[in-house]
Amino acid sequence: MPPSLLARRLARLPDEVRLAGRILYLTEDPDLLTRQLRGEDLTWTPAIKLRDNISTDEITPAYICYYYDDTLGDFPYLGLKAGQEFPIARGAVKQGGFVASVAGRRRGKGSSREQSPYAELKAGIRLVVAESIERIYRENCQNLGILTTTDFSVLERVRRGETIPLSVFTAGEGQITRDIIEHGGLFEYNVARLQGAVRVPTLATARRPMTVAEKIFARHWVADAATGHVGVPAVAPGDEGFVVTDIRFSHEYVTPMSAIFFEQLVGKDEPLNDPGSIFFFRDHLTFLRDAMTPARIAEGLLDVANQLEVKQREFAAAKGVKLYGELGLGRLGSEAICHSKILEAHALPGQVIIGSDSHTPHAGAVGCIAFGVGTTAIFNSWITRDVRVQVPRSFRVVVRGRKPPHITAKDIMLQLLRHPYVKNGDAIGQVVEYCGEAVEDLSVDERATMTNMAAEVGAFTGIIAPDRRTVDFLVEQRGLVRAEAERLCEGLHSDPGAEYVTEIEIDAASLRPMVALPGDPGNGREIGELGDRVGIDIAYAGSCTAGKREDMDMYARVFAEAAAEGRRIPDGVRCYIQCGSQDVFRYCQTRGYDRVFAAVGATFIEPSCGACINAGPGVSRTAGEVTISAINRNFPGRSGPGQLYLASPYTVAASALAGYITAWEPASSPVGVA
Ligand code: SF4
Repeated sequence: MPPSLLARRLARLPDEVRLAGRILYLTEDPDLLTRQLRGEDLTWTPAIKLRDNISTDEITPAYICYYYDDTLGDFPYLGLKAGQEFPIARGAVKQGGFVASVAGRRRGKGSSREQSPYAELKAGIRLVVAESIERIYRENCQNLGILTTTDFSVLERVRRGETIPLSVFTAGEGQITRDIIEHGGLFEYNVARLQGAVRVPTLATARRPMTVAEKIFARHWVADAATGHVGVPAVAPGDEGFVVTDIRFSHEYVTPMSAIFFEQLVGKDEPLNDPGSIFFFRDHLTFLRDAMTPARIAEGLLDVANQLEVKQREFAAAKGVKLYGELGLGRLGSEAICHSKILEAHALPGQVIIGSDSHTPHAGAVGCIAFGVGTTAIFNSWITRDVRVQVPRSFRVVVRGRKPPHITAKDIMLQLLRHPYVKNGDAIGQVVEYCGEAVEDLSVDERATMTNMAAEVGAFTGIIAPDRRTVDFLVEQRGLVRAEAERLCEGLHSDPGAEYVTEIEIDAASLRPMVALPGDPGNGREIGELGDRVGIDIAYAGSCTAGKREDMDMYARVFAEAAAEGRRIPDGVRCYIQCGSQDVFRYCQTRGYDRVFAAVGATFIEPSCGACINAGPGVSRTAGEVTISAINRNFPGRSGPGQLYLASPYTVAASALAGYITAWEPASSPVGVA
């Protein structure tokens, strides 16, 4: 342990806390919000509708996250939509003197960005209340020392200026989470843990039938931190402890803030724990200068954003961490999007992987436990190499039968996301295990679409037990020896009798091409249910979810058919195709896809998150523009101010050619790519 931490004085919150300040109700009605910001205290009743589904994109839109210091306190809720308005302006929350912030269901959904609770904290918010709170956001709040609860009765005590027992906020939590809350955050807790001042509960769960996810947790469980012993016979939902990670990664939106925390709290010259298993990525903002409006550039935001790249690069060099960087030499773009590269080059069955991004479950496609964590958890993992977990409950999604050939993993996910169990937030924080004949038939690339979108499910992670397709992938694309690949997969299956909260069945044969209406990935409809024709201005085919080899095969298949018939994307529609990595980019060039894309008038661009994070070609410029996109989420403002529909790679390509949203029907004799 770094000597500076051994000597650090331990912090702890008092047993009773007083939260002095006003209460901000994030209402659906923009007028009520504006009146509160002007100084009026709202007398709230359940008849006043609170905003549900407030995403972290709304709390701190992507461009706000270019800041990674206390300046963030000027910005919470700048992207919050109430009615058709965005009523919260820069500085308004801080000036309002609010200490508590109240919302409806599924607060904090979406990205794992810790800038959101950090912005709230720096604006004065110390208490977050909501009907339900998403896992990563809630953990980020706890890690930063923000109190959270779903118990609305505390609001009356805040209003009266009464003290509140800390136990109100720790009730029902496991010992570690309680300790983290009582120490005022994860870092202070970890210092106490490393100093031996808090005891991590010893796990004594008896052998039991386990899910594949539970088996991986058990193998990685820190059984005895003092001796370094790792592994326990069994775990069960609710067990709390720490698991050793195999891979930790972060990207330029998060690394700089974590680096600052590390330098300030641990020491500028202290080493990271096992830097060889840490990876950094420059993927989100490499195209930013093409996407940022002249007004924002004039405000200096591009310069602020570019500092993220500089800070990450310098920190990587100083600490000996592998950085997948930007291309440079006049070429915009990245070596790879983090999730794409982790699956392409690093993830192995049975590993525990943490990443600074909600779509980290992507790697669950090869049977990993991969999950997103926030800035504070990443920074702490650089010290300890482990991460705290409370073993989640699992639910199973069984996709039975054979899907039609033009139905993709994205269609399955858009169908799942509109299931009431998911829409109501019941899946929050659980492990989603995908299985069934239709899943077994999918390639690892398509499986990754399903595990990636565990983030939209609100799940802790998504996983598919490794099988012969996983072994083939490891041999053919990763170069492993078959016997080694098979050994890695051994025992990684769920036991008969393993415990699931519920099981959702999807009949693959009955699926139809899906589209999610703007605003939320859960707004799924069959394209046939759309009614009026929806014209489009932009078609975006890329991102970690839809920039893999098989996604490119799908775009190329549809466009090759069109090219063979002399059809092109109509004037007035802009179509961008963007790979997840240089490996995929080269794959497309080798197969001649770049020529097919050019033949129909699509623009093929270098890898990056780009338009998916409102930072590259393919973003909308006005509220009236309509985009069909293969990305994973369409929260307000995600990819510009326009109307963002989600769909499969086939649908995106077919719609680009048609100029309106339409499904693709396979030709009876497929056209090859020259
Ligand atoms: S492509 Fe989009 S969803 Fe994927 S990591 Fe980048 S910003 Fe996140």
